[in-house]
Amino acid sequence: MAVYKKPESESDFYHNFAEKQPQMSASEAFIESSRCLFCYDAPCITACPTHIDIPLFIKQIHTGNVEGSARTIFDSNWLGSACGKVCPTSVLCEGACVYNHENKKPIEIGRLQFYATQQVIEADKHLYGPGLPNGRKVAVVGAGPAGIACACELRLMGYEVDVFEAKDKPSGLTVHGTAPYKITNEQALNEMAYLQDQMGYVVRYNTPIETKGQIDDLESKYDAVFLGVGIGPTAELNVNGESSHRVIGAVEFVEELREKQHQMKVPDRVIVLGGGNTAMDAASESARMGAAHVVLAYRRGQEDMGAYAFEYDMAVRAGVRGLFHVAPIEIRDTDDGVAVTFIRTQHLNGKLEFITGSEFVMEADWVIKATGQSKMGSFFSLIDSLQLDTSRRVVVDPITFQTSNPKYFAGGDAVNGGAEVVNGAFDGKMAARGIDDWLNKK
Ligand code: SF4
Repeated sequence: MAVYKKPESESDFYHNFAEKQPQMSASEAFIESSRCLFCYDAPCITACPTHIDIPLFIKQIHTGNVEGSARTIFDSNWLGSACGKVCPTSVLCEGACVYNHENKKPIEIGRLQFYATQQVIEADKHLYGPGLPNGRKVAVVGAGPAGIACACELRLMGYEVDVFEAKDKPSGLTVHGTAPYKITNEQALNEMAYLQDQMGYVVRYNTPIETKGQIDDLESKYDAVFLGVGIGPTAELNVNGESSHRVIGAVEFVEELREKQHQMKVPDRVIVLGGGNTAMDAASESARMGAAHVVLAYRRGQEDMGAYAFEYDMAVRAGVRGLFHVAPIEIRDTDDGVAVTFIRTQHLNGKLEFITGSEFVMEADWVIKATGQSKMGSFFSLIDSLQLDTSRRVVVDPITFQTSNPKYFAGGDAVNGGAEVVNGAFDGKMAARGIDDWLNKK
């Protein structure tokens, strides 16, 4: 188990957040690519949500055609570089690699993918450009993975594209919500700049779309609108005392950490509430910021957590302690922190129940809530006839990504409720094609 010192400088920060998958050297990439069996009907392709031709790009690396390899990757996935870093490859492409059946290490597909795409990004080698102008305009709301993928694909087909982004940077959760040991701000933003330079879409930063007037304006000025708005801030716990300033949301915590890095001060005692991947990130990051006691408290069992097992293992290796079958019922400010009252839980007849009389108190300096994010319900209510499901996600056609209001298309977290960057990238690309089909039929 690692013990991290509180980072005092940028170099301390990068030491504590050392990259999980460092970039390969050319010789490492050559040797690793030589291991690929270039399988017929390669299961790694099927396991990739964007269906990148993995054996082809690996063969291109091996034969010295790195530019061709990057093109193979970007042809399927506009965020091919970020995905090489942040994809949960052990449960996607690498998890499907045939080497697993022989109990051998699978091909390091993610690292090879990042290697190939980084070569062209670093050399600023432009592989694409906008298509001939077709006279049509599309508005994209949100510059996250889905929005940017949609913008690139539309530009390729000759559309004029304006992207409206509430924050001051693109890439959505890739920069604002992903643990820094998965991808650095610089790596994520370099890919964004590389794409925008080539494809020439316009991004209007610090421009949230939040009024009916703005929606009407988009509808009158654009032929179609793509909604890549993601999901909202951390949801309420509905527990007494959660309004304490010592109780913070996991998404907001990760975002501030990425922004301030070593200048953010994380106290010694942290309780993280939740069992999803965001909870694992928040807990791991608290430990890497030098918090001496980080407890991950989840109301069900370890096996019930939504997080990938490897994410939990990584948190434990960073020094996090798991506490299962406990639910917070009250949070109280104390002289030097907060006291969280938990109650133990059990499964009874398929239901989660509190065990009467099992309450206990745990003290902490901070409580980080990672128990889900609110949906963008109030924003969606501005759009006429936009159908949402019972979880307040936008309902779309699974092929075209068109919503119940035909002028609107949607993808990414707003549709799936919160998945991976690669899913957003796939949705955005498919939605662009859906928009093109729809406008061509009109
Ligand atoms: Fe190469 Fe593994 Fe994919 Fe086969 S399954 S093509 S060995 S990466």
